[in-house]
Amino acid sequence: MPSSVMSMSQTAVSAVGLRKSYGDKTVLDGIDLSIPAGSVFALLGPNGAGKTTVVQILSTLISADGGRARVAGHDIADSPGGVRAAIGVTGQFSAVDGLITGEENMLLMADLHHLSKGEGRRVAAELLERFDLVEAAKKPASTYSGGMKRRLDIAMTLVGDPRIIFLDEPTTGLDPRSRHSMWQIIRELVSGGVTVFLTTQYLEEADQLADRIALLNDGRIAAEGTAEELKRLIPGGHVRLRFSDPAAYRAAVAVLGEVTLDDEALAVQIPSDGSQRALRELLGWLDSAGVEADELTVHTPDLDDVFFALTGTAQQTSQTKEDVR
Ligand code: ADP
Repeated sequence: MPSSVMSMSQTAVSAVGLRKSYGDKTVLDGIDLSIPAGSVFALLGPNGAGKTTVVQILSTLISADGGRARVAGHDIADSPGGVRAAIGVTGQFSAVDGLITGEENMLLMADLHHLSKGEGRRVAAELLERFDLVEAAKKPASTYSGGMKRRLDIAMTLVGDPRIIFLDEPTTGLDPRSRHSMWQIIRELVSGGVTVFLTTQYLEEADQLADRIALLNDGRIAAEGTAEELKRLIPGGHVRLRFSDPAAYRAAVAVLGEVTLDDEALAVQIPSDGSQRALRELLGWLDSAGVEADELTVHTPDLDDVFFALTGTAQQTSQTKEDVR
């Protein structure tokens, strides 16, 4: 096992105080990250937020103006070669050469990784098959659809057997079907033990794929956590209690006071952040009044709400919503 994997231990990527400016423009103003190995991390932000810049720094394509980071156990400044050997990067800096075929792209990659001819052919064939590119393998990559190009890009990245993959906006511009197939690919990568660092403008994508999400806004991480944690950060959540016994329903209304009522469904809605503490308190009130609900559901606001509340970029977000549909 390569030493980079051994030394990676639990944290695949960690960063403290990353900064980057272009001229007068501060793009990153102190970014901290900690990404457990084997997880999917989504860096979420509108166009121009600095997502690609973070990926470029962590993959050692450009250097930061300040701060430190370790990727796969290697310091990005002291050991960029170690970082590069352990990662794969796909996205805006796609390595796909449109003039040659998909298969030739794969074999070129195998050469770059010093695989023997036979091994290179075996790995290329396996990955072309896995990414549903066998039929297209002998055609120039320039004739591929957007989804096929991205699949080829990821297949090429996997030739090097990276432990951490950076996917910079992997589904931007793809139709919904290709987007869903890309999500499936990403899930499979993770189930194979790879750590995925994903950037996206799509809230739904982060919600679907990521174990943890960081919202990048104005050069800083505006919020970070699981999708559920982020949703709990802002108001809009509630608990809904439904009753089958009208007397229990009335008793609940009496004990709970200010609630939204649904007389027809015998349901009440109580504003709540959905936390354990809030639920315990609510159940305590019901218990003390001897009232028992038939059903209790917690409703959290969705990530759109969080994004609006924390970044104030409503226009971008509504655009994103449209794109996702
Ligand atoms: P995102 O990936 O979130 O869309 P980027 O990281 O690409 O954002 O860009 C963040 C900001 O940094 C943008 O305003 C962009 O114009 C600026 N920027 C990125 N690269 C350069 C560069 N090489 N020179 C000058 N400005 C840049």
